[in-house]
Amino acid sequence: MIFDLVHRSLTSRSVLVSVDELLGNAAGSRMPEVESAKLTPAIARRIAIACPTSALTTTESVDRPVLTLDYGECTGCGRCFEPSDGAVTPATRLACLGVSRQALVRQWDTSSGEEIRSEMPSLPETAREIRRVLGRALNIRQVDAGSCNGCEAEIASMQNPYYDLERFGIHFVASPKHADMLLVTGPVTRNMAEALKHTYAATPSPKLVVAAGACGVSGGIFAGSPEVAGRIDSVVPVDAYIPGCPPTPAMLLSGILTVLRSVRR
Ligand code: SF4
Ligand code: SF4
Repeated sequence: MIFDLVHRSLTSRSVLVSVDELLGNAAGSRMPEVESAKLTPAIARRIAIACPTSALTTTESVDRPVLTLDYGECTGCGRCFEPSDGAVTPATRLACLGVSRQALVRQWDTSSGEEIRSEMPSLPETAREIRRVLGRALNIRQVDAGSCNGCEAEIASMQNPYYDLERFGIHFVASPKHADMLLVTGPVTRNMAEALKHTYAATPSPKLVVAAGACGVSGGIFAGSPEVAGRIDSVVPVDAYIPGCPPTPAMLLSGILTVLRSVRR
């Protein structure tokens, strides 16, 4: 019996997700990807009207009509897919995970269909650099600053045997005094603003703060609520952002690994 079990475990295929498969994987997040070749000014206007969070906006000018997509404000509701005639599809890969706030914003010239400016890092380059930093320990203290707990469910999934966060030397710790990084979720409710500031102050320097989820990045669906103190970066300094509502475990892990890579740089 025991030999059967050992034989089976040695011969079974590993279900652990590989780093290459993991990096930038946005499958299931319903974040939009724009197929620029199919984009027209009329489609851009339609999808901007359909977007309930102003993540998609258009700027009309005679010489250059522009579509702007801010992933930080996108809640992955999917309402822009249907009126886009195939120009917007659910993204399967995203390079803008664990990057600056500005790098979450992309723009297209809707008359030519070309992307105007993009600070999206290259995934293969990111993968190469991340391999060099793997194995270094990183202690994370997660701070729920008013989240709906959707982000926490995905964060908890990073520790399951499929994603296996600990293989990268990354651990969650109970005290900010032991943390290198604060992973903060939620729109920062008034009740949690002071607690977040105290947690930030209790974390030894040098420290990193990552805002995770649309609520943490832009306020998400709670933006403008009188019960909300403001985005995370209006309460404590933020080093990197991970969009999504909620970000999937792969998006969270990609974002955290990308932050490690930029610190090494
Ligand atoms: S998925 Fe929803 S929130 Fe995101 S850009 Fe499309 S319509 Fe806007
Ligand atoms: S980003 Fe979405 S899942 Fe995360 S806390 Fe906000 S509403 Fe909930």
